[in-house]
Amino acid sequence: MSLNVKDYIRTIVDFPHEGIMFRDVTTLFADARGFRIAVDQLLAPYAGARIDKVVGLEARGFILGGAVAHQLSTGFVPIRKKGKLPGTVISQAYQLEYGEAVVEVHDDALQPGERVLIVDDLLATGGTAAAGISLCERLGAKVVGCAFVIDLPDLGGRKLLEGLGHEVHALTA
Ligand code: 5GP
Repeated sequence: MSLNVKDYIRTIVDFPHEGIMFRDVTTLFADARGFRIAVDQLLAPYAGARIDKVVGLEARGFILGGAVAHQLSTGFVPIRKKGKLPGTVISQAYQLEYGEAVVEVHDDALQPGERVLIVDDLLATGGTAAAGISLCERLGAKVVGCAFVIDLPDLGGRKLLEGLGHEVHALTA
């Protein structure tokens, strides 16, 4: 019996563009054992740590982050792409390979001093996570960790986040 999350993740060639090898985690989420292992392993390093909120990055970070928050008995806060949140937001732009993207969080979603764990499915360049960290910090929260199922180390995300002083936890490359 396999107990490695990697075994549940498939790679889709040329999605969403030619030349991209897309790591598809829907197969991990769809498998009862795979999903359980992923959530358990994501939160394992934070056992006993004080975490007030789990912050999930759109969209697969919502699926993982919601489950992690439930397990840790914390609240859950979504960071969404521009224009999706209904209340008053703060926004953070970040660079993509071509152009820029914007992520947002409700301006009352985190309180100063709250300790948060950021969760997403995959760390590539780190741009999305760094923007998410920035939003949390602008609300006065402290980011105590960043947890991902997959880290693609060649794309530099881990280096970027560690360079900003953040701990990165990933289950597989
Ligand atoms: P980054 O900002 O680190 O370059 O990209 C990470 C973000 O893009 C994450 O929110 C992640 O969900 C998404 N992403 C980029 N490439 C992939 C991929 O191959 N598979 C999946 N599942 N997500 C990806």
